[in-house]
Amino acid sequence: MMLPESVDDAPYRPIYTQEFRDLFASKKFRSRQQQIVLAIERICFVPERKSHLLDKKHGIDWRGKRDRKANGDIILIFGWCREWGEKGFRAQGINDCCGGEAENSNQVVFLALGSHKQVFKRG
Ligand SMILES: [Zn+2]
Repeated sequence: MMLPESVDDAPYRPIYTQEFRDLFASKKFRSRQQQIVLAIERICFVPERKSHLLDKKHGIDWRGKRDRKANGDIILIFGWCREWGEKGFRAQGINDCCGGEAENSNQVVFLALGSHKQVFKRG
């Protein structure tokens, strides 16, 4: 299964860090790809739905980013460029939302994927 490079009729376009692409393709998540893609599509329609704006906690600074559960115990971490600008994270220089990709208010940037422990307590 491939990661969608666009989602029909959704207001936001998904882009992915290499880390996210590698995790998605890994053996660990192969059986969960369909659920992950479904969550990605839903995020591209309404990024704030069933999602929290994150803070600095559990040892990782995800300020300005969001999480959302895929079905089950998998969490996706993403940046919503428009919100990152509108809520002042850009002005404060906090956590570049695009992981180095070009800024675009129509995009959602998928950064990390894993269990709660994997996305919040690594490093
Ligand atoms: Zn951005």
